[in-house]
Amino acid sequence: VDEPQSIEDLMAPDEMTRHFNWWGLSGALLPPEDSLRYLHDSINRARLVGAVPQDVRKNFERVRKTFLYGLMDYDLFTVADDDARLILEGALRDRFVAYYDGEITIIRGEQERTLRGSSFDEIYKRRKHGDLLVTRDGKHRGMPSGMSGLLAWARWEGLLTGQRSARSDKAMSRLRNYVAHPSGFHLLSPPDAARTLSRVAEFINKLWGVDTPGGQVFPAPIERIPRVVVLASDGRCVTFTSVRQVREVDPTLADGTFSVYLATPYEELCEIGRELSFRHRPGFQWTDSPCDLLWGPGPRSDLTAQLDRFETDTLNDQVQCLDRLFIIRVDGDEIDDPRSPSDFEACDLTQGSWHVIRADHPYDALRHVRAHRGMPVSELKDGYCPDCPVTELGRFESREQAVHGVELLGRCAGR
Ligand SMILES: [Zn+2]
Repeated sequence: VDEPQSIEDLMAPDEMTRHFNWWGLSGALLPPEDSLRYLHDSINRARLVGAVPQDVRKNFERVRKTFLYGLMDYDLFTVADDDARLILEGALRDRFVAYYDGEITIIRGEQERTLRGSSFDEIYKRRKHGDLLVTRDGKHRGMPSGMSGLLAWARWEGLLTGQRSARSDKAMSRLRNYVAHPSGFHLLSPPDAARTLSRVAEFINKLWGVDTPGGQVFPAPIERIPRVVVLASDGRCVTFTSVRQVREVDPTLADGTFSVYLATPYEELCEIGRELSFRHRPGFQWTDSPCDLLWGPGPRSDLTAQLDRFETDTLNDQVQCLDRLFIIRVDGDEIDDPRSPSDFEACDLTQGSWHVIRADHPYDALRHVRAHRGMPVSELKDGYCPDCPVTELGRFESREQAVHGVELLGRCAGR
């Protein structure tokens, strides 16, 4: 590593950084101004919202600045990445104290007590070995310390959501431990560091209750709009960019089979199996985000008669795509596709056993049931499968029991 010997050295943009652009690593060098613009763009989403305490925001502003100075010194991307992880741990500690207003209820030797303090360190000075934290749901848990303990705590209290992201908490805390006790040299690229900054920002904003529009970890609810798909007689499957387009349809599509769905704008509505088909399976959940059939399948002439219903935005709604509830029926060797609670209510099957699973995607739930339906419940810690991004909420031997279980879960969610 060359140390700068003059102000000129110090002020010279780092060539290594200038090899990176919007499309990745390149043999050509970006002009320094463009390079700075690229760096700004790549951390565009890594911002903390006003709900986050000012101290945390100030620390994070410094990380963003460090990242941008990577234009002058490539090593600073690694510094920014490391620093961002430490700031997340600090934010978790602050949130812990603020969440309980500085009064932590614990169990010490069967007795309930309160630990008071205005900072995490102050409270932790007062704790004793064997103390148990009482979370808001009344459960007794080990006192969280360190990044992995605090991330788990944030999930117990429902501050962080999502099944897939819960599985990456471990990686996040392992990396943080590495930052605190580095062994060997590590060097990260601008895209690596930008990803960490964006991720950390999403975590911190979520700790203070704010989802990220278009986020990768804690996305804000997504708007669903009516969308039309046609399976043409020549085997093509076409998704219209707007409902209105159906009025002026290409003649080769006119005698196809039409369907209208309430779906998110990015949902894939066709599927390629042996042949093209609609991806939505009536009575089941198979799409990346919740999707409802509004009309069809049917011929175009029937649809155009009612098309104006779907041309306005009155049917639009918003859906949360994390922590969806699925019910999967297993009958002997047969495993049904996942059902939503309303699909479950609507079906009248009574045979088989029923698995109730929380997952971010129906496929995660299905894969878990396929691979682990025989796993002893004792191996599922708090329902968490060690191998799949799901939480198993219950296994029921009869439909009646399952109905009762799903009802209870609904009541808990509405609490
Ligand atoms: Zn599993």
